[in-house]
Amino acid sequence: MANTSGRHFFMNPGPTNIPDRILRAMNRATMDFNSAEFKAISDECFAGLQRIFKTTQPILGYAATGHGAWEAALVNLFSPGDRVLVAETGYFSMNWGLRAEAFGLKVETLENDWRRPIDPARLEARLREDKGHEIKAVLAVHNETSTGVAHPIATMRQAIDAARHPALFCVDTISSLGSFDFRMDEWGVDVTVVGSQKGLMLPTGMSFTGVSAKAIAACALAKLPRVYWDWQRLLGQAAGQGYWNGTVPVHFFYGLQEALKMLEEEGLDNVFARHHRLAEATRRAVRTWRQNDGPEVFSTDPGAQSDTVTAVLMPEGFDADKLRAIALDRFNVSLGGGLGPLRGRLFRIGHLGDLNEPTVLGSLATVEMALDLAGVPHGKGGTQAAADYLVNEA
Ligand code: PLP
Repeated sequence: MANTSGRHFFMNPGPTNIPDRILRAMNRATMDFNSAEFKAISDECFAGLQRIFKTTQPILGYAATGHGAWEAALVNLFSPGDRVLVAETGYFSMNWGLRAEAFGLKVETLENDWRRPIDPARLEARLREDKGHEIKAVLAVHNETSTGVAHPIATMRQAIDAARHPALFCVDTISSLGSFDFRMDEWGVDVTVVGSQKGLMLPTGMSFTGVSAKAIAACALAKLPRVYWDWQRLLGQAAGQGYWNGTVPVHFFYGLQEALKMLEEEGLDNVFARHHRLAEATRRAVRTWRQNDGPEVFSTDPGAQSDTVTAVLMPEGFDADKLRAIALDRFNVSLGGGLGPLRGRLFRIGHLGDLNEPTVLGSLATVEMALDLAGVPHGKGGTQAAADYLVNEA
């Protein structure tokens, strides 16, 4: 029988745990979204988001998950037949590209090993070749949630500049924003895409895009049809409504207001340091399990291992989904699975959002028990190695 006593540990890399403070903030009566009271809340939220995005440029919101914000970026920036260059990072970059294809764009992939970060020199070389500036945009995922590899957005920007290429730079920060460093303006990002359910610790269902002046100018020329997603409408330049389409999900804003307070009370740098500490503890555990030909960290570049999710590759012949089923059924701990071609090959430990040391250590101990129960070879003492790191080095 499934074990459902005690707290369920939800250790997927998103959605993440919603803190009680946010749940309580959302437990409040509806208010008129046209009222001055609500406008003050929403203004506070968009200003707070600008501080998290590290931008002074507009941020637009939708009642949609990240897939909606992805689509908004595509339909606002491009016309049929436009060419975009997708930096291959994994399942999520692939899916953004598939959507671009569905809208009639020419999608070119900057091929890359899913276990490694994008090489900015290769991006620069490809853009230098594009003398006619056919490539209208580079689409990149900052933190590839399917692989646990973080990609070098700042140096990719430098590569675009070094090639003197005018392509727009669109970045998915869905599993990085508010968890590790991202700087929209300093890094010259034209479009930043994020969802509510990861670093922002909210329920799933709202997403945002930060848009640069260059992106807004591109929007004025782009011919793909759009209504709900239309940035000009959201910016208040077309229908005069401004900032939201349709009924505003006020409860999300109550939650967002509280989430922003929590992030800023802790201090963004401290939030980043906490994520790094918990990620490194997780990696120490996995490196210990790696002994005896056990599982290993999927990301092979230590400098690019994600601070929000660790993807753990199973030894050949062992099924990651079986291990996940044991963790869930026996111990009530939910781990992320492998996506696309990685299904069954790896499991993912999410360590982002509202999380602390005991939660991570409990989850690591659970994985260790599940490895034993599934008969997967591994080195003993991973949880101890994580605890030692937290006590002595973090
Ligand atoms: N991009 C990344 C990097 C993601 O991790 C996800 C979801 O996990 C998505 C896009 C899709 O976002 P959503 O599930 O909110 O539509």
